[in-house]
Amino acid sequence: MTYGFETLAIHAGQEPDPSTGSVTIPIHQTSTFKQDGVGGLRGGYEYSRSANPTRTALQECLAALESGAHGLAFASGLAAEDTLLRTVLAPGDHVVIPDDAYGGSYRLFATVLARWGVAYTPVHLADLDAVRAAVTPATKLLWCETPTNPLLGIADIAGLAGIARDAGVLLVVDNTFASPYLQQPLTLGADVVVHSTTKYLGGHSDVVGGALVLNDPELAQRLVFHQNAMGSVPGPFDSWLVLRGAKTLGVRMDRHCANAARVAEMLQAHPKVGAVYYPGLPEHPGHEVAAKQMRGFGGMVSFTLTGGEQEALRVCERTELFTLAESLGGIESLIEHPARMTHASVSGSPLEVPADLVRLSVGIESVEDLLTDLRTALS
Ligand SMILES: *Cc1c(COP(=O)(O)O)cnc(C)c1O
Repeated sequence: MTYGFETLAIHAGQEPDPSTGSVTIPIHQTSTFKQDGVGGLRGGYEYSRSANPTRTALQECLAALESGAHGLAFASGLAAEDTLLRTVLAPGDHVVIPDDAYGGSYRLFATVLARWGVAYTPVHLADLDAVRAAVTPATKLLWCETPTNPLLGIADIAGLAGIARDAGVLLVVDNTFASPYLQQPLTLGADVVVHSTTKYLGGHSDVVGGALVLNDPELAQRLVFHQNAMGSVPGPFDSWLVLRGAKTLGVRMDRHCANAARVAEMLQAHPKVGAVYYPGLPEHPGHEVAAKQMRGFGGMVSFTLTGGEQEALRVCERTELFTLAESLGGIESLIEHPARMTHASVSGSPLEVPADLVRLSVGIESVEDLLTDLRTALS
Protein backbone atom coordinates (compact mmCIF):
# COMPACT_ATOMS: atom_id res chain seq x y z
CA MET A 1 0.00 0.00 0.00
CA THR A 2 1.27 3.47 -0.81
CA TYR A 3 0.52 6.22 1.67
CA GLY A 4 -0.23 9.89 1.14
CA PHE A 5 2.20 12.68 2.02
CA GLU A 6 0.76 13.58 5.44
CA THR A 7 0.65 9.91 6.48
CA LEU A 8 4.31 9.46 5.52
CA ALA A 9 5.25 12.66 7.39
CA ILE A 10 3.82 11.20 10.59
CA HIS A 11 4.75 7.54 10.19
CA ALA A 12 7.69 6.99 7.80
CA GLY A 13 10.73 5.80 9.76
CA GLN A 14 8.72 6.26 12.96
CA GLU A 15 7.46 2.84 14.11
CA PRO A 16 6.82 2.86 17.87
CA ASP A 17 9.99 1.87 19.74
CA PRO A 18 9.99 -1.95 20.04
CA SER A 19 11.75 -2.02 23.42
CA THR A 20 9.47 0.43 25.28
CA GLY A 21 6.45 1.10 23.06
CA SER A 22 7.31 4.82 23.00
CA VAL A 23 4.98 6.29 20.38
CA THR A 24 7.36 9.08 19.40
CA ILE A 25 10.91 8.31 18.34
CA PRO A 26 13.18 8.63 21.40
CA ILE A 27 16.03 11.14 21.42
CA HIS A 28 18.92 8.67 21.53
CA GLN A 29 21.27 11.11 23.25
CA THR A 30 24.32 8.88 23.25
CA SER A 31 27.66 9.00 21.48
CA THR A 32 28.36 5.26 21.58
CA PHE A 33 26.59 1.89 21.77
CA LYS A 34 27.39 -1.22 23.86
CA GLN A 35 28.77 -4.08 21.81
CA ASP A 36 27.79 -7.69 22.55
CA GLY A 37 31.29 -9.05 22.28
CA VAL A 38 33.97 -7.49 20.09
CA GLY A 39 32.36 -6.29 16.84
CA GLY A 40 28.93 -7.63 17.84
CA LEU A 41 26.54 -4.74 17.25
CA ARG A 42 23.19 -5.15 19.01
CA GLY A 43 21.02 -2.79 16.96
CA GLY A 44 23.47 -2.14 14.13
CA TYR A 45 24.77 1.01 15.86
CA GLU A 46 28.34 1.64 16.93
CA TYR A 47 29.12 5.37 17.22
CA SER A 48 26.78 8.33 16.67
CA ARG A 49 28.82 10.09 13.98
CA SER A 50 28.42 6.99 11.83
CA ALA A 51 24.76 6.42 12.70
CA ASN A 52 22.26 7.19 15.45
CA PRO A 53 18.70 5.77 15.66
CA THR A 54 17.03 9.21 15.94
CA ARG A 55 18.92 10.37 12.85
CA THR A 56 18.01 7.15 11.04
CA ALA A 57 14.31 7.83 11.70
CA LEU A 58 14.68 11.35 10.31
CA GLN A 59 16.59 10.12 7.25
CA GLU A 60 13.92 7.52 6.44
CA CYS A 61 11.18 10.10 6.84
CA LEU A 62 12.95 12.66 4.62
CA ALA A 63 13.53 10.04 1.90
CA ALA A 64 9.84 9.09 1.97
CA LEU A 65 8.72 12.74 1.79
CA GLU A 66 10.84 13.36 -1.31
CA SER A 67 9.78 10.04 -2.90
CA GLY A 68 13.45 9.04 -2.80
CA ALA A 69 15.22 5.84 -1.84
CA HIS A 70 17.98 7.32 0.34
CA GLY A 71 17.99 10.21 2.83
CA LEU A 72 20.98 11.68 4.66
CA ALA A 73 20.74 14.28 7.41
CA PHE A 74 23.40 16.91 8.13
CA ALA A 75 24.23 19.56 10.71
CA SER A 76 23.11 22.35 8.32
CA GLY A 77 22.01 22.90 4.75
CA LEU A 78 25.48 24.10 3.83
CA ALA A 79 27.05 21.02 5.43
CA ALA A 80 24.81 18.88 3.20
CA GLU A 81 25.85 20.93 0.15
CA ASP A 82 29.55 20.80 1.00
CA THR A 83 29.47 17.04 1.54
CA LEU A 84 27.61 16.49 -1.73
CA LEU A 85 29.86 18.79 -3.77
CA ARG A 86 33.12 17.39 -2.43
CA THR A 87 31.84 13.86 -3.01
CA VAL A 88 30.83 14.30 -6.66
CA LEU A 89 33.30 16.98 -7.81
CA ALA A 90 37.07 17.05 -8.24
CA PRO A 91 39.52 19.88 -8.96
CA GLY A 92 39.19 20.92 -12.64
CA ASP A 93 35.43 20.33 -12.76
CA HIS A 94 32.89 22.99 -13.70
CA VAL A 95 29.36 23.61 -12.39
CA VAL A 96 26.44 25.72 -13.60
CA ILE A 97 24.73 27.65 -10.80
CA PRO A 98 21.68 29.96 -10.67
CA ASP A 99 22.35 33.68 -11.14
CA ASP A 100 20.30 34.32 -8.00
CA ALA A 101 21.47 31.40 -5.87
CA TYR A 102 21.10 31.45 -2.11
CA GLY A 103 23.96 33.65 -0.86
CA GLY A 104 25.50 30.93 1.30
CA SER A 105 25.52 28.44 -1.58
CA TYR A 106 27.13 31.05 -3.83
CA ARG A 107 29.76 31.75 -1.16
CA LEU A 108 30.51 28.02 -0.98
CA PHE A 109 31.11 27.90 -4.75
CA ALA A 110 32.89 31.26 -4.96
CA THR A 111 35.26 30.87 -2.02
CA VAL A 112 35.60 27.27 -0.78
CA LEU A 113 35.15 25.28 -4.01
CA ALA A 114 36.81 27.85 -6.27
CA ARG A 115 39.98 27.58 -4.16
CA TRP A 116 39.68 23.83 -4.44
CA GLY A 117 39.79 24.21 -8.27
CA VAL A 118 36.10 23.96 -9.20
CA ALA A 119 34.91 26.63 -11.66
CA TYR A 120 31.33 27.92 -11.82
CA THR A 121 29.14 29.87 -14.22
CA PRO A 122 26.07 31.74 -12.92
CA VAL A 123 23.18 31.43 -15.38
CA HIS A 124 19.55 32.56 -15.44
CA LEU A 125 18.03 29.09 -15.06
CA ALA A 126 14.61 30.10 -16.39
CA ASP A 127 16.38 30.40 -19.78
CA LEU A 128 16.97 26.77 -20.81
CA ASP A 129 18.94 27.79 -23.94
CA ALA A 130 21.33 29.79 -21.75
CA VAL A 131 21.76 26.76 -19.49
CA ARG A 132 22.48 24.48 -22.46
CA ALA A 133 25.04 27.01 -23.75
CA ALA A 134 26.79 27.21 -20.37
CA VAL A 135 27.48 23.47 -20.19
CA THR A 136 31.08 22.65 -21.16
CA PRO A 137 32.94 19.32 -21.43
CA ALA A 138 34.23 19.98 -17.88
CA THR A 139 30.72 20.47 -16.47
CA LYS A 140 29.80 17.82 -13.93
CA LEU A 141 26.81 19.34 -12.20
CA LEU A 142 23.85 21.62 -12.69
CA TRP A 143 22.73 23.35 -9.49
CA CYS A 144 19.12 24.48 -9.40
CA GLU A 145 17.03 26.41 -6.91
CA THR A 146 13.35 26.94 -7.58
CA PRO A 147 11.73 29.13 -6.38
CA THR A 148 14.90 31.19 -5.98
CA ASN A 149 15.95 33.32 -3.09
CA PRO A 150 15.15 36.22 -2.83
CA LEU A 151 13.62 36.96 -6.27
CA LEU A 152 11.31 33.91 -6.42
CA GLY A 153 12.43 32.98 -9.93
CA ILE A 154 11.11 29.68 -11.28
CA ALA A 155 13.16 27.09 -13.16
CA ASP A 156 11.61 24.23 -15.13
CA ILE A 157 12.97 21.16 -13.31
CA ALA A 158 11.90 18.65 -15.98
CA GLY A 159 13.46 20.87 -18.67
CA LEU A 160 16.74 21.09 -16.72
CA ALA A 161 16.65 17.33 -16.14
CA GLY A 162 16.52 16.83 -19.92
CA ILE A 163 19.59 19.03 -20.40
CA ALA A 164 21.43 17.28 -17.57
CA ARG A 165 20.61 13.84 -18.99
CA ASP A 166 21.79 14.79 -22.52
CA ALA A 167 25.03 16.24 -21.14
CA GLY A 168 25.61 13.39 -18.69
CA VAL A 169 25.78 15.72 -15.69
CA LEU A 170 24.03 15.58 -12.30
CA LEU A 171 20.99 17.77 -11.68
CA VAL A 172 20.87 18.91 -8.05
CA VAL A 173 17.80 20.81 -6.82
CA ASP A 174 17.82 22.86 -3.64
CA ASN A 175 14.19 22.30 -2.63
CA THR A 176 14.31 24.40 0.54
CA PHE A 177 11.87 27.11 -0.58
CA ALA A 178 9.19 24.75 -1.89
CA SER A 179 9.54 21.90 0.62
CA PRO A 180 8.72 18.34 -0.49
CA TYR A 181 5.02 19.00 0.13
CA LEU A 182 4.85 21.53 -2.71
CA GLN A 183 7.42 20.05 -5.10
CA GLN A 184 9.23 16.73 -5.56
CA PRO A 185 12.27 17.25 -7.83
CA LEU A 186 13.27 13.55 -7.97
CA THR A 187 9.93 12.69 -9.59
CA LEU A 188 10.65 15.43 -12.19
CA GLY A 189 14.03 13.92 -13.12
CA ALA A 190 16.48 15.51 -10.65
CA ASP A 191 19.32 13.32 -9.34
CA VAL A 192 19.77 14.80 -5.86
CA VAL A 193 17.56 17.01 -3.67
CA VAL A 194 19.17 19.34 -1.13
CA HIS A 195 17.41 20.85 1.87
CA SER A 196 18.10 23.34 4.55
CA THR A 197 15.79 21.59 7.06
CA THR A 198 16.29 24.74 9.15
CA LYS A 199 13.47 26.23 7.08
CA TYR A 200 10.07 24.67 6.25
CA LEU A 201 10.89 21.07 7.20
CA GLY A 202 11.88 22.03 10.75
CA GLY A 203 9.34 24.81 10.50
CA HIS A 204 9.63 26.36 13.97
CA SER A 205 12.86 28.41 13.80
CA ASP A 206 14.37 26.30 16.55
CA VAL A 207 16.94 24.13 14.77
CA VAL A 208 19.62 24.28 12.05
CA GLY A 209 19.87 21.23 9.80
CA GLY A 210 20.30 19.95 6.27
CA ALA A 211 19.53 16.95 4.12
CA LEU A 212 20.22 15.15 0.86
CA VAL A 213 17.75 12.77 -0.80
CA LEU A 214 18.48 10.66 -3.88
CA ASN A 215 17.71 7.37 -5.63
CA ASP A 216 21.08 6.19 -7.02
CA PRO A 217 22.32 3.49 -4.57
CA GLU A 218 25.96 3.78 -5.63
CA LEU A 219 26.08 7.56 -5.11
CA ALA A 220 24.14 7.15 -1.84
CA GLN A 221 26.81 4.75 -0.60
CA ARG A 222 29.59 7.23 -1.43
CA LEU A 223 27.66 10.01 0.31
CA VAL A 224 27.10 7.89 3.43
CA PHE A 225 30.84 7.22 3.46
CA HIS A 226 31.61 10.95 3.21
CA GLN A 227 28.90 11.88 5.73
CA ASN A 228 30.85 9.78 8.23
CA ALA A 229 34.32 10.68 6.92
CA MET A 230 33.64 14.44 6.92
CA GLY A 231 31.50 14.28 10.04
CA SER A 232 29.05 17.15 9.61
CA VAL A 233 26.14 15.23 11.16
CA PRO A 234 23.23 16.56 13.24
CA GLY A 235 22.94 15.57 16.89
CA PRO A 236 20.07 13.40 18.15
CA PHE A 237 18.08 16.29 19.59
CA ASP A 238 18.36 18.36 16.39
CA SER A 239 17.35 15.29 14.36
CA TRP A 240 14.33 14.87 16.63
CA LEU A 241 13.31 18.53 16.26
CA VAL A 242 13.33 18.28 12.44
CA LEU A 243 11.42 15.00 12.59
CA ARG A 244 8.83 16.59 14.88
CA GLY A 245 8.53 19.62 12.60
CA ALA A 246 8.12 17.50 9.49
CA LYS A 247 4.99 15.82 10.90
CA THR A 248 2.95 19.01 10.34
CA LEU A 249 4.63 20.13 7.11
CA GLY A 250 1.54 19.60 4.94
CA VAL A 251 -0.90 21.59 7.06
CA ARG A 252 1.65 24.32 7.67
CA MET A 253 2.45 24.68 3.97
CA ASP A 254 -1.24 24.96 3.04
CA ARG A 255 -1.56 27.91 5.43
CA HIS A 256 1.77 29.48 4.40
CA CYS A 257 0.57 29.39 0.77
CA ALA A 258 -2.86 30.83 1.56
CA ASN A 259 -1.44 33.66 3.71
CA ALA A 260 1.32 34.50 1.22
CA ALA A 261 -1.21 34.74 -1.63
CA ARG A 262 -3.25 37.28 0.38
CA VAL A 263 -0.12 39.27 1.26
CA ALA A 264 1.05 39.32 -2.39
CA GLU A 265 -2.38 40.57 -3.53
CA MET A 266 -2.43 43.33 -0.93
CA LEU A 267 1.13 44.45 -1.80
CA GLN A 268 0.35 44.47 -5.51
CA ALA A 269 -2.46 46.95 -4.95
CA HIS A 270 -0.42 49.19 -2.62
CA PRO A 271 0.73 52.56 -4.04
CA LYS A 272 4.11 52.48 -2.23
CA VAL A 273 5.01 49.05 -3.61
CA GLY A 274 6.85 48.66 -6.93
CA ALA A 275 7.28 45.07 -8.12
CA VAL A 276 5.87 42.07 -6.24
CA TYR A 277 7.68 38.76 -6.69
CA TYR A 278 5.39 35.80 -5.99
CA PRO A 279 5.03 32.81 -8.35
CA GLY A 280 1.32 32.56 -7.53
CA LEU A 281 0.62 35.85 -9.33
CA PRO A 282 -0.56 35.21 -12.91
CA GLU A 283 1.79 37.94 -14.22
CA HIS A 284 4.86 36.28 -12.65
CA PRO A 285 7.06 35.08 -15.57
CA GLY A 286 7.38 31.63 -14.01
CA HIS A 287 3.73 31.26 -13.05
CA GLU A 288 2.85 28.57 -15.62
CA VAL A 289 5.90 26.43 -14.88
CA ALA A 290 5.29 26.81 -11.14
CA ALA A 291 1.65 25.78 -11.57
CA LYS A 292 2.81 22.70 -13.49
CA GLN A 293 5.48 21.49 -11.06
CA MET A 294 4.26 22.75 -7.68
CA ARG A 295 1.19 21.90 -5.59
CA GLY A 296 1.10 25.49 -4.26
CA PHE A 297 3.18 28.63 -4.61
CA GLY A 298 4.85 28.75 -1.21
CA GLY A 299 5.13 31.21 1.65
CA MET A 300 7.87 33.55 0.40
CA VAL A 301 7.06 36.97 -1.07
CA SER A 302 9.52 39.69 -2.09
CA PHE A 303 8.74 43.24 -3.18
CA THR A 304 10.39 46.53 -4.02
CA LEU A 305 9.46 49.98 -2.71
CA THR A 306 8.84 52.90 -5.05
CA GLY A 307 10.61 55.00 -2.38
CA GLY A 308 13.87 53.05 -2.90
CA GLU A 309 16.36 51.63 -0.43
CA GLN A 310 15.64 54.03 2.45
CA GLU A 311 11.94 53.21 2.27
CA ALA A 312 12.76 49.46 2.17
CA LEU A 313 14.87 49.81 5.31
CA ARG A 314 12.15 51.84 7.00
CA VAL A 315 9.47 49.20 6.31
CA CYS A 316 11.76 46.44 7.64
CA GLU A 317 12.12 48.32 10.92
CA ARG A 318 8.45 49.27 11.33
CA THR A 319 6.59 45.94 11.30
CA GLU A 320 5.63 44.41 14.63
CA LEU A 321 4.37 40.91 13.83
CA PHE A 322 6.84 40.44 10.98
CA THR A 323 10.06 40.08 12.97
CA LEU A 324 13.21 41.59 11.46
CA ALA A 325 15.40 38.49 11.09
CA GLU A 326 17.23 36.29 8.63
CA SER A 327 16.07 32.76 7.82
CA LEU A 328 12.59 31.70 6.72
CA GLY A 329 10.08 28.88 6.74
CA GLY A 330 9.03 29.03 10.39
CA ILE A 331 5.47 29.44 11.65
CA GLU A 332 6.19 33.07 12.55
CA SER A 333 6.38 35.79 9.93
CA LEU A 334 9.79 37.35 9.24
CA ILE A 335 10.89 40.41 7.26
CA GLU A 336 14.36 41.25 6.03
CA HIS A 337 16.43 43.41 3.70
CA PRO A 338 18.32 40.90 1.46
CA ALA A 339 20.96 43.35 0.17
CA ARG A 340 22.16 44.11 3.70
CA MET A 341 21.27 40.87 5.45
CA THR A 342 20.92 37.40 3.84
CA HIS A 343 22.57 38.44 0.59
CA ALA A 344 25.28 40.77 1.90
CA SER A 345 27.82 38.09 0.92
CA VAL A 346 26.93 38.45 -2.81
CA SER A 347 27.29 42.23 -2.81
CA GLY A 348 29.41 43.28 -5.79
CA SER A 349 29.05 39.85 -7.46
CA PRO A 350 26.87 38.94 -10.47
CA LEU A 351 24.32 37.78 -7.88
CA GLU A 352 23.87 41.19 -6.22
CA VAL A 353 20.22 41.83 -5.30
CA PRO A 354 18.27 45.12 -5.63
CA ALA A 355 18.79 47.54 -2.71
CA ASP A 356 15.08 48.46 -2.63
CA LEU A 357 14.01 44.83 -2.14
CA VAL A 358 12.24 43.49 0.96
CA ARG A 359 11.76 39.75 1.54
CA LEU A 360 8.95 38.28 3.61
CA SER A 361 8.65 34.80 5.04
CA VAL A 362 4.89 34.77 5.53
CA GLY A 363 4.00 32.77 8.62
CA ILE A 364 0.80 31.05 9.67
CA GLU A 365 -0.58 33.75 12.00
CA SER A 366 -4.10 35.14 11.39
CA VAL A 367 -3.81 36.65 7.94
CA GLU A 368 -5.80 39.82 8.76
CA ASP A 369 -3.24 40.63 11.47
CA LEU A 370 -0.40 40.17 9.00
CA LEU A 371 -2.07 42.43 6.43
CA THR A 372 -2.71 45.13 9.04
CA ASP A 373 0.91 44.95 10.23
CA LEU A 374 2.24 45.44 6.69
CA ARG A 375 -0.25 48.21 5.84
CA THR A 376 0.76 50.08 9.01
CA ALA A 377 4.48 49.70 8.26
CA LEU A 378 3.93 50.95 4.71
CA SER A 379 1.79 53.92 5.75
C1 LIG B 1 19.10 28.55 4.38
C2 LIG B 1 19.33 28.01 3.04
C3 LIG B 1 20.44 27.20 2.77
C4 LIG B 1 21.52 26.92 3.80
O1 LIG B 1 21.05 26.17 4.85
P1 LIG B 1 21.63 26.29 6.36
O2 LIG B 1 20.78 25.33 7.10
O3 LIG B 1 21.46 27.71 6.79
O4 LIG B 1 23.06 25.89 6.28
C5 LIG B 1 20.57 26.68 1.49
N1 LIG B 1 19.67 26.94 0.53
C6 LIG B 1 18.60 27.73 0.75
C7 LIG B 1 17.65 27.99 -0.36
C8 LIG B 1 18.39 28.29 2.00
O5 LIG B 1 17.34 29.09 2.20
